[in-house]
Amino acid sequence: MSTTTPNVPNVTPEEPSVTNDSLADRLYTVRYDDAGDSHLGVKLPGICAEKCHSYDCTSVCPADVWREGEDGVPHIAYENCLECGSCRWACPHGNVEWNYPTRGAGVSYKKG
Ligand code: SF4
Ligand code: SF4
Repeated sequence: MSTTTPNVPNVTPEEPSVTNDSLADRLYTVRYDDAGDSHLGVKLPGICAEKCHSYDCTSVCPADVWREGEDGVPHIAYENCLECGSCRWACPHGNVEWNYPTRGAGVSYKKG
């Protein structure tokens, strides 16, 4: 039985020249419609204030929606949410209340 070796050219691929906009520039292209009501929250504020030491919700969010509050309970600027879902999975206590914004509201991406 004979096998054939594919004729692969010995070419080193060039590095792609992609210009990446900064995160701030990319966020500028996103449009939001405010539902007027937060679709995000915490289930039990006491868990944040008394048991949480990592504040993963604040570090994982690409849009800076979650910010550590003085009382230990995060402030949530829900209007800027990209609906990526990261905060929901990052919270080590399963304490994030997460829903999609009401129909028609929320984020839309100009570039698809
Ligand atoms: S990570 Fe979870 S428990 Fe900790 S502050 Fe954020 S929502 Fe609260
Ligand atoms: S869903 Fe994503 S963008 Fe929205 S608050 Fe959570 S981590 Fe931030």
